[in-house]
Amino acid sequence: MHTTPVSNRLHIGIFGKRNVGKSSFINALTGQNIAIVSDQPGTTTDPVGKSMEIAGIGPVYLYDTAGIDDSGELGLKRVGKTKQVMNKINLALVIVTAEGFDEADIRLVEELHSRGCDIIVVCNKIDILQPNGAILERIAGYGIPCVRVSCATREGIEEAKQTIIERGSKISPEQPSLIGDIIQPGELVLLVVPIDLGAPKGRLILPQVQVIRDILDHNAVALTAKEHELLDSLKMLTHPPSLVICDSQVVKKVADAIPPDIKFTTFSILFSRQKGDLATFVRGVRQIDRLQDGDTVLIMEACTHHPMPDDIGRVKLPRWIRQFTGRDILFDVNAGPLLDKDLSTYRLIIACGGCMINRQEMLFRIKAAHAARIPITNYGIAISYVHGVLQRVLSPFPHERTLCNMPAAMLAVDL
Ligand code: SF4
Repeated sequence: MHTTPVSNRLHIGIFGKRNVGKSSFINALTGQNIAIVSDQPGTTTDPVGKSMEIAGIGPVYLYDTAGIDDSGELGLKRVGKTKQVMNKINLALVIVTAEGFDEADIRLVEELHSRGCDIIVVCNKIDILQPNGAILERIAGYGIPCVRVSCATREGIEEAKQTIIERGSKISPEQPSLIGDIIQPGELVLLVVPIDLGAPKGRLILPQVQVIRDILDHNAVALTAKEHELLDSLKMLTHPPSLVICDSQVVKKVADAIPPDIKFTTFSILFSRQKGDLATFVRGVRQIDRLQDGDTVLIMEACTHHPMPDDIGRVKLPRWIRQFTGRDILFDVNAGPLLDKDLSTYRLIIACGGCMINRQEMLFRIKAAHAARIPITNYGIAISYVHGVLQRVLSPFPHERTLCNMPAAMLAVDL
């Protein structure tokens, strides 16, 4: 459980105004001194995250955040960082106190509610003042449970834990399935994995490992080969694989090498389906056909990784898109959080695979693109499209495949 990647953990965030006892609640909940606690308002500055296990829920990533009512130039920056955390949360714990409960608490609940996460309100400091009926009614109006605790006396902490376990255990951070719904037990899946200079020494990368694990979890068989050994591997087999999965960078080579009746896709497409919305990304990729000279495309990287000299998002993809369109297209890069970026100035957004973020955050990015009415696609789908093999790699996904044949103008109307 300790090796569960952060992006696959249930993300729980603790939110609230300054000095309502957010950090004390984390410490009381976990029985550990994770958060720095002081009576001084604003002790927690930047959001602090920690991987941990909660019995009954499993692996979680728990965030402690700064007070949402922080003020001043630095305070507002801290509030901005807290809002970034809201974009990736599956379960929000909103800490309030009866003595300080006001409209700011309600606005916070509404803001989290609008992001679609599950919410529990925790009314702290009941040793000083119990919440009155009016407060409880307003919270109940959102269909949100309210638990009452005192971190000082530990009253109500066990009940709060049970409520969190009950709600948290019902939320799955990994919907839909990676591959389980497109393979049958006993089937053979052939994985094509290039081991080039960019590959890490002595191991496979996380998405490859996760796909192998999912194949095994569904009682199918995984066979892995490098692209140079692909043809030899196929010849060795007494019957063809049910599915071939390859890295996007060799998609054209593999598409040309395998018989057309074998289902075929890429690691990137599997993750774009699990983490984002495959249909949205397939619709969005058709915008490439409508790009004109001088248009700007946003390359949306979810983390601030160190770019390689021949980086897929910054170098190869722009080159392939310019070659495919024959247009003089400009590319801009946003690495890490979106902050308050104005997306409306772009003609297309291309999201990375998002291996470092969770589904909640990728869906937030898709929502932001929709709000700006800008089509969004992802690296793997764009690469397959400009290499002319998108229909092939969508063969396991018939619904999304039909979108390839619709006129690009019709798809844009759907935004
Ligand atoms: S795919 Fe996205 S999240 Fe993963 S390393 Fe690349 S830029 Fe970062």
